[in-house]
Amino acid sequence: MMKSKDIAALLDEPACTHNKKEKSGCARPKPGASAGGCAFDGAQIALLPIADVAHIVHGSIACAGSSWDNRGTRSSGARLYKIGMTTDLTEQDVIMGRGEKRLFHSIKQAIDSYSPAAVFVYNTCIPALIGDDIEAICKSAQERWGTPVVPIDCAGFYGTKNLGNRIAGDAMVKHVCGTREPDPLPIGAESDTFKVHDVNLVGEYNIAGELWHVLPLLDHLGIRILCTLSGDARFHEVQTMHRAKVNMMVCSKAMLNVARKLEDSFGTKWFEGSFYGVQDMNNALRDFARLIEDPYLTERTEALIASEEARINKALEPWRQRLKGKRVLLYTGGVKSWSIVSALQDLGMTVVATGTKKSTEEDKARIREIMGADTKMVEDGSPRALIDIVREYKVDILIAGGRNMYTALKARIPFLDINQEREFGYAGYEGMLELAKQLALTVESPIWQAVRKPAPWAIAKEVSHG
Ligand code: SF4
Repeated sequence: MMKSKDIAALLDEPACTHNKKEKSGCARPKPGASAGGCAFDGAQIALLPIADVAHIVHGSIACAGSSWDNRGTRSSGARLYKIGMTTDLTEQDVIMGRGEKRLFHSIKQAIDSYSPAAVFVYNTCIPALIGDDIEAICKSAQERWGTPVVPIDCAGFYGTKNLGNRIAGDAMVKHVCGTREPDPLPIGAESDTFKVHDVNLVGEYNIAGELWHVLPLLDHLGIRILCTLSGDARFHEVQTMHRAKVNMMVCSKAMLNVARKLEDSFGTKWFEGSFYGVQDMNNALRDFARLIEDPYLTERTEALIASEEARINKALEPWRQRLKGKRVLLYTGGVKSWSIVSALQDLGMTVVATGTKKSTEEDKARIREIMGADTKMVEDGSPRALIDIVREYKVDILIAGGRNMYTALKARIPFLDINQEREFGYAGYEGMLELAKQLALTVESPIWQAVRKPAPWAIAKEVSHG
């Protein structure tokens, strides 16, 4: 079980600018407030996309079900991460002290059946409470079978989902990063004016395959991704993360400790950016070039931005005509609101209000910068509050996470899913086109007019009464 001083050390993240503030990403939930997932949930969700690893949840079967595969992350090859594995502890195992034995056998079974690149073992509340020594079991299993076995001590009661993200990142830095060197570049890949630079993306989950919109652009510039932590990642890629020149913190600050620790240990520079919207995509490419400090790369980056911008603006034009002036209520969860706000404004839409329940203080400052000081920021995301805003501000479309879908559909409000369960990838220039297309198709769908009409039987009743 993790010591309380280790938990306190993870909660104290010096690279986080709101570290000491009450509204820290790791603040304890207030009694009565919805707490979101537990630390185990956060750790598993952060690492599950590493596709060639056997992910074993050590605990009761309910834990495995609580967060398994609930993010629409995609893999370009390996599918092992899709197989849910658990030690399925029962009362009998707890009473008879069989937890560690079951774990040892589960690791063996996973290795025998699937020959994984590595095994990750997630600790949960019950084995943490009965004192199973998962670190020792993982160590002896690794020695016995020669496959890396990584303990991730993330029992749910340690804290919030955000803390779980940090525990996951910490386990990668502690046990995996730096245990292998990157593959050499193919012969002829570099020339005097074209050098290949290695980078990592931290906190990118390849939701709906959206990373694949960005990869060709980085390839074109000569930026090689050593690892994305963790979308479409492989174990051997995580092992090489220490060799990157630059880390990009994508999407959220949940694994900020990874960027900070790699900077402390290996001097890797890092920046925070987003791939959503044309402007933020441009900024991300420019930030890579700025930190890598290769004049040829800067030149290539500016040329690529100019050509991609011209191409995408032409492609977006008809969609902009259709979306112009449409009013949006944005209630996002993990996705950075400010990044999506600027993408929507770029499409000519008016964002009347945006949710900030999960936003950091910096996110809010950026939202004010983009939308103006009087921006309506929505903290209360209850169905009633959202529907009231839709009516009051004459909103044309609600953009939110999957859990708000039924609120929108019951109230007959056009709805687009923007969170982790979404079906479409919105990153990169191509993603922006996809976003515009999905918005227009949603707003213009004839279904809304049809469902807002009185039901045929209601009309028939009126006529017969009349
Ligand atoms: S809080 Fe504990 S028991 Fe519940 S899902 Fe999380 S790890 Fe499992």
